[in-house]
Amino acid sequence: MSKVGELKKIEKEVLTLKKSPLYAYRTENKYLPVIGEGDHDAQIMFIGEAPGKNEALTGKPFCGAAGKILDELLVSISLNREEIYITNIIKDRPPRNRDPLPEEIEAYGGFLDRQIEILQPKVIATLGRYAMGYIMKKFGLDLELEPIGKAHGKAYKAVASYGPIEIVALYHPCVALYNRDQITTLKKDFKILQKYGK
Ligand code: URA
Repeated sequence: MSKVGELKKIEKEVLTLKKSPLYAYRTENKYLPVIGEGDHDAQIMFIGEAPGKNEALTGKPFCGAAGKILDELLVSISLNREEIYITNIIKDRPPRNRDPLPEEIEAYGGFLDRQIEILQPKVIATLGRYAMGYIMKKFGLDLELEPIGKAHGKAYKAVASYGPIEIVALYHPCVALYNRDQITTLKKDFKILQKYGK
C-alpha cells in the first residue's frame, strides 16, 4: 500500500475509535481528530502533544497560537511546513487542553508508531515532555530520560526498524506563549535541526 493509503487507513481507524477515552468528547463537540500533515518524504517528523481547540475544529495540527510560534521557529532555521511532517501523540483534543492521561497515550500511541514506520523519518523532533517521554521509551532510551528542563536541545541516537535515527528533544512551542523570553531558548535548540532540512 502507498504511504497515502496507509495514512488514510489510520485516519479511518481513528475516526471510528469508539474505545478511545476522548471519542465521546470529540463527537459531542463536533470536533475532528488530527492525524498529521506535511511531506510524506520529510527527513524530520515533529511530534506534539495533542490537538487544541483550533486543531480539533479544523483537523489540522498546530494551526492555532502554538502553531504560529512553531512557524516562527521553523522560519528561523529556514524550514517550512511543507518540508516537514507534523503530528501529535494524542489524535483527539483533551477537554480544556489538559495533560494527556496514560490511558489516552495507550489508546493513540500505536497510531503514532505506525506513522513512524510508514514515513521513516531520519529525525524525530519531540515537542514537550509527553512526546519526549513516549519516543525515548519507545526507542529504548529510558535510562537517558531526563526532565525536559535538562533534555531540551539534546540529540539522541537510536535505531528504528528501518535504520539509524536521531531524536531531538525540544520544549513545546507553547512555552513561548506563557513566557516570550523562552523563544530565545527555543530558537537556539531548533538550530540542531538545521543540518537535516529536506
Ligand atoms: N499543541 C500540540 O501539542 N499540538 C497541536 O496540534 C496544537 C497544539
